[in-house]
Amino acid sequence: MSEILSSEVVIIGGGVIGAATAYFLCKEGAEVMVVEAEDLASGASGACDGFVSLQTKMPGSHLKLALESAQLFPSLAEDLEVDIEYNPCGGIMLATSQEQMKELRARAKALKSAGLEVEMLSAAELKEYLPEVGKTVKGGSFCPGDAQVNPISLTLGLAQKAQEMGATILRGCRVENIVVTNNRVREVHTTAGNIHSRRVVCAAGIGSNQIGKMIIVDVPVLPQRGQILVTEQRDPVLKTIVSGAEYLGTKANIPELLPEDEEAARLGLGFTAEQAASGNILLGSTREFVGFDNSTTPEAMNAIARNAMRFLPWVEDLDVIRSFAGLRPCSPDGLPILGTVKGVRGFYLATGHAGDGICLAPITGKLLSELVLDGETSLDIEPFSLYRFK
Ligand SMILES: Cc1cc2nc3c(=O)[nH]c(=O)nc-3n(C[C@H](O)[C@H](O)[C@H](O)COP(=O)(O)OP(=O)(O)OC[C@H]3O[C@@H](n4cnc5c(N)ncnc54)[C@H](O)[C@@H]3O)c2cc1C
Repeated sequence: MSEILSSEVVIIGGGVIGAATAYFLCKEGAEVMVVEAEDLASGASGACDGFVSLQTKMPGSHLKLALESAQLFPSLAEDLEVDIEYNPCGGIMLATSQEQMKELRARAKALKSAGLEVEMLSAAELKEYLPEVGKTVKGGSFCPGDAQVNPISLTLGLAQKAQEMGATILRGCRVENIVVTNNRVREVHTTAGNIHSRRVVCAAGIGSNQIGKMIIVDVPVLPQRGQILVTEQRDPVLKTIVSGAEYLGTKANIPELLPEDEEAARLGLGFTAEQAASGNILLGSTREFVGFDNSTTPEAMNAIARNAMRFLPWVEDLDVIRSFAGLRPCSPDGLPILGTVKGVRGFYLATGHAGDGICLAPITGKLLSELVLDGETSLDIEPFSLYRFK
């Protein structure tokens, strides 16, 4: 590369978080360059479900962030030229014991007082939403605000729109170093050459720790593997997104909702099901800390299939057509890391979204754009600061 590149803002990572940040920055007229080591949506954003789930968030700053994000989806669906398959379908979380029902009831109460509509449904009342549930299902909680989106289309749609507004996207281009002088970001060294920039956003997902090392800051993000089964296409059978209480248990580390079975506990197994617009049903998922290994395993495939039949016995008649695994960028408390870094002006973090990155992408992009351009945000992001871990 002979030309000298420069950009007002460089975003490292072309996943949903980098793409959303590029989109919102471009809307404000910023000059943006996205640097992606592989391809858009080649990381977690291309190997995940599309839950825009509110009832799985913790009351407080986490739920607030999700509520703000959820509000942005309808206008994104309008604005993006790619069909992101946004479906405000609501979501059901199923309980298989009276203890789980009790927990879900208590959570519904807490979520309601935090402003989220959630209602409890008996096993009989579930029939209105689900064709048939397993005998062990005792009931569940229904959140009308939950929704669904196609995560790959969302990522590509955001990136494409950003590009139309002037963003440059460098694919197959890895960031190898960041030059900081006098406590300020100056240059980004990539496999395609050096880019002059005074503002750099790290949206590198599981690569964020490596990026942090370049500016001598510890960004505590670890890969957490999640495995998924995909079935053949069917006419619409699932009206809502569906999960099991253990899914929330493993996601939020809630002792009362963790799986009791030894293998399920080891795999971090939690039931999820959603029917994509294509008709395929995605069944999930696991939560495993196995380093950067994103292969699928027979043990998890079997466990996911068996578990899914416990909740929705009719899935037994569906052919599984493929499986995949993605690596969630996981912070120690599972919440995103957003904000600036002490002593390095012009460096911003938008990472660590764990299992919530699709849901939280719109608000993350909006807040990061405000932070980069104005130095302040319309929503308090202090609870998501890197320094909460110190
Ligand atoms: C099985 C599974 C199910 C999930 N289900 C849901 C769900 O239903 N709802 C939800 O909200 N979330 C879900 N998630 C979580 C969601 O997928 C992630 O939170 C989100 O995709 C993270 O986006 P990201 O942009 O931060 O990371 P990524 O999509 O991983 O993007 C980071 C990008 O940075 C690039 N990169 C890294 N290092 C460098 C470098 N040095 N130079 C240049 N580029 C670099 C990578 O190549 C990658 O493309 C799920 C995740 C998994 C694995």
